[in-house]
Amino acid sequence: MTANSLLPLYTERSDREGRDRLEILTALISAPFFDPIFRGVLVRVPQDHSVYQWGCVVGACERVRSGGTDLCSNHLRQWGKARESGTTRAEFLTAAQPLSRAEFEREGPCSICPDRPAEPRTDLRLCRAHYSSWKYYVAPRDSGADFEQWAAEQEPRGGYGNCKVTVCPGLAESPLGLCSWHWHRYKRDRRPGGAALPASWWQRYESQGRSVPVSCTDENAFRTWCARVDPAPRPGLVNLRGLRPLLRAEIQYTLFAHTQQDRHSIWRLDWIQKLVNLARERDAGSLTDLDLDDFPRFHTSIVKKMLHYLRLVYFTPSRRGTPGSSRPTTSASASLTGPATST
Ligand SMILES: [Zn+2]
Ligand SMILES: [Zn+2]
Ligand SMILES: [Zn+2]
Repeated sequence: MTANSLLPLYTERSDREGRDRLEILTALISAPFFDPIFRGVLVRVPQDHSVYQWGCVVGACERVRSGGTDLCSNHLRQWGKARESGTTRAEFLTAAQPLSRAEFEREGPCSICPDRPAEPRTDLRLCRAHYSSWKYYVAPRDSGADFEQWAAEQEPRGGYGNCKVTVCPGLAESPLGLCSWHWHRYKRDRRPGGAALPASWWQRYESQGRSVPVSCTDENAFRTWCARVDPAPRPGLVNLRGLRPLLRAEIQYTLFAHTQQDRHSIWRLDWIQKLVNLARERDAGSLTDLDLDDFPRFHTSIVKKMLHYLRLVYFTPSRRGTPGSSRPTTSASASLTGPATST
C-alpha cells in the first residue's frame, strides 16, 4: 500500500501539481505564526520542548530519553531498582542526581581550533592534537601546569573541512574527511572504495607539518557511499538534508502542525529521522510516494497523521464536508498569497 492511497488529492500528480503544493507549504512555513524552529533544514528542538521533549525528566539531567520512557537509560535502571525497594516515583525524582551528556553525544569544536572537532572522550573540549599534547606531554611533566594558561598559549591548527558525507553537518576529524561517527560507520560498512590514510600518518606527516596523502582504491565507490549514508543520530536534531523540496516542506509543516493540536500522539524525533532517512533513500518526492509497508507500525501511524495534516491544508475548506468529492484546488494558497492563478 502506498501512502498515496490515503491522500486522494491528485490521481496523477504532475510537476505542476507538485509545485502548487510546494507553494502552499512554503507560504505557510514563512507565515508569521509558523514556529521558526521548524523552518530550517536542520531542525533543532530544545531538550524540554513542550511536544517533542527528548531529555530525561530528572532535573538538570543532560541525557536523552531511553526507548518509549521519559528517563535516560541510567536513570531508568536506577528507577527500576528504587521501585522494587518501595521508593515512590516522586521520591526517586527528587533524590536522583543529574548526569552530564554521554560521551557519544558530545560534539563541538576544539576550544583552541575552531575548525577541528573536539575529542568526544574528554570534557576538555580539545581536538586530538591538543588533547594529546596536554595529556601525554604537558600534564605528566609538570603536575602544576595551569590548563587555562597553557590553552591560551596554544596556536589553533587548521581544520580538515566538513565531513564528506553529503547530509552530515559535522567537522571531519582527520585528513580522510569523515567525522568521528561516519568514520566508525565507514569501517562498519567495510570501507567502500578503500579510502585510507598512510600508516602512522600522525607521526610521519601531520606532527611534522607535512600534508597527509589520502589513498582510495575506488574514488567513485567512496563518493557514492558518502552520498548515500544516513546522518549520525543527534539528540534533538531532525536532519532534512538531501530530501526533495516538497517532501522537506511536508515534514517541516507537519512537525509544526502536530504542535498545534490540543491532544497529540507521541512523535519521537528519532522516529521522524528514521522516516526521513528512508524517504531520502527512496528518493521520494512527497510523503504520498512512500510505501507504508516499509515502515514499522508506529511509523505508519505517524505518516498517516502527517498526511491528515496535509490533507487539511491542500483541500479547499468548502469541500471538506463532502468527502466524496476530491477535486483539488489551490485555495489554501490563495488565502495566503492572493488569488490563485487559473488552473
Ligand atoms: Zn537521566
Ligand atoms: Zn585544537
Ligand atoms: Zn559525518
